[in-house]
Amino acid sequence: MSDVSLHELLHHASGIDALLDVVDALTLESDFESFFTRAANAARDVVDGDGVAIVALREDGDLEYRFFHGVQQLLGGFTGFRFSLDTGTVGRALSQRRTLFEPDYPRSEEALQPFIEVGLRANLILPMFNGDQPVGALAISWFREPPEAIEPARVTLADKIAQQIAVVFQRHLLEQRLRHQALSDGLTGLCNRAGIMQRLEQRLASRERHGGRFAVILLDMNDLKTVNDAFGHTFADALLRDCGSRLREMCRRDDDVGRIGGDEFLIVADCEAQWDTPLPLLQRLLAAMSIALEPHRGKWPLASIGVAMFPDDGTDLETLLHRADVAMYAVKAAGKGDYCLYDPALEARVRYAERTAREVLAAIGRDELALYYQPICHLAASESGRAVEALVRWHKPGHEVLTAGEFVPEVEAAGLGLIQELDRWVLKTAVSQLDAWWHQGRGPDCIHVNISGTYFVSKDFITELRGVLARCASMPSDALVIEVTETTVMANTAAVGETVNACRDLGVLVALDDFGTGYASLTHLKILPVDMVKVDAAFVLDLFDSQSSWAIVTGIFAMTRAMGLKAVAEGVETRYHQTPLRALGCDWFQGFGVAEPMDGAALLSWLEAGRGGQ
Ligand code: C2E
Ligand code: MG
Ligand code: MG
Repeated sequence: MSDVSLHELLHHASGIDALLDVVDALTLESDFESFFTRAANAARDVVDGDGVAIVALREDGDLEYRFFHGVQQLLGGFTGFRFSLDTGTVGRALSQRRTLFEPDYPRSEEALQPFIEVGLRANLILPMFNGDQPVGALAISWFREPPEAIEPARVTLADKIAQQIAVVFQRHLLEQRLRHQALSDGLTGLCNRAGIMQRLEQRLASRERHGGRFAVILLDMNDLKTVNDAFGHTFADALLRDCGSRLREMCRRDDDVGRIGGDEFLIVADCEAQWDTPLPLLQRLLAAMSIALEPHRGKWPLASIGVAMFPDDGTDLETLLHRADVAMYAVKAAGKGDYCLYDPALEARVRYAERTAREVLAAIGRDELALYYQPICHLAASESGRAVEALVRWHKPGHEVLTAGEFVPEVEAAGLGLIQELDRWVLKTAVSQLDAWWHQGRGPDCIHVNISGTYFVSKDFITELRGVLARCASMPSDALVIEVTETTVMANTAAVGETVNACRDLGVLVALDDFGTGYASLTHLKILPVDMVKVDAAFVLDLFDSQSSWAIVTGIFAMTRAMGLKAVAEGVETRYHQTPLRALGCDWFQGFGVAEPMDGAALLSWLEAGRGGQ
């Protein structure tokens, strides 16, 4: 506008049109502030004022000073200044929908003290409309001696400019809202994936230039789907909002927090000094999440947190995110409810696990997997009960038979629900085999099947178990014993408890496997309605060498006897182990000293040779 001589223009009718044309052309400017500067300049010059401000009408009905031109040093501090629609000259002009000139502002009834204090002497308020809707006002102000009156033609012209500004201002607000929406998560009010990625990129660029370390923290609430299914979406949404605000509270103001997926959050937090680690923050985050989830514990496995550090673990966005993901994955594989910092060793492990898991599942289709059966024997032949544990084996071409211990942990560590597929196959195969044996009137009476924690607590498990049992023509459901490891219980006691109850409703028995390896074993026994415990082989194998193993095993047997639970000693490698175990009150044994795992045909011969009872 400064190229155009305003006074010249104003003295010709065609000049007014030309001025409006110029302002019109400015409305195409993509940057609002530069448009506003130039349009406001024109409006100010038209009436010979000192400064111009946009007073926006907010959605909540308040007015807010948003942009200033010409008098920044006096009024700039008022950016964001809010007041209600029924105060001030702007409020009156807007309510009355008319232009208002206040030549003696300090004396006017609506004068606001802060403006008097900075020396505001007169105001021309031009209400701005979008169609019929008021959207705010253009306020032109005087700090010098104001005019007593303003030529109506000039007011009209200034008003026309104000309406042009209104149009562009509206467009600017809309763009801002769209940008905000595109970058923020409607549910939690945090950044969304795009938003936090943008912030992460900005932080990367700035740290690369100026140095500094920061942590990329990936936090997964695990199985939000379970909560959705159990309590409904409204509840799950409220929980997510709660978690979001707790996470925000735990972080510093300049840390970025975003929700990047249904139940996944990403936090980007600066480490202040070279030696600083995010461990205290991670502990705070875990604690915050467990408070948020407290009433629903058990329904919901705990949060898993994976961390990658800039620049230690990566200097670009993809690498950092991938590595935080790898670390989170390690937490999930280890049972959730913890955090883990990225380590290159984790990566190799996950890749290897995933590859192995996929190979194992493909092996099912090629008929390379088989079940072996290891007898579980009672010391009195009459009580033998002829139970066996089904153990999966892989006849991998070019290899000796692989035992479960050589590949099941990999399938579990791979995550992605792959272990569930394997377990499903084992369950179906084991139960239909036992049913066939019952039908033929031979073989063991009962079968133990190992089920991984993730499958056991998944919502599909009980439904699928019911389906498997429904297809049995001969065997009763109490001929099936599901083995879950004690560490599964540790990770999720309440959910395990529910599934155990559901199993009991179906008549299926449940055993706690590898008992003694968890930390809160004794407590769990009290609250979990399991039918038996299997004392971990480590204690049995150690029995002669370690006083503490002896003490633990003694304690477990005394307790299970008192609770009326069946106890099985695993890892009974020799007959020598049986004697002290018997003395300690153990009646049931499993181990190479009794019988090795064997295929179905070998088991039948073994049983038929009468070796089931000891
Ligand atoms: P587990 O349930 O505790 O099974 C016992 C493991 O100890 C078996 O190893 C068995 O071969 C081995 N074992 C038996 N007697 C002795 C002994 O006297 N001394 C020693 N040192 N070991 C003995 P396996 O078959 O390699 O299985 C390892 C683990 O893998 C199992 O431990 C179980 O937790 C898991 N597993 C096995 N089959 C399956 C399955 O079908 N699904 C799932 N999810 N896990 C399975
Ligand atoms: Mg087992
Ligand atoms: Mg075991």
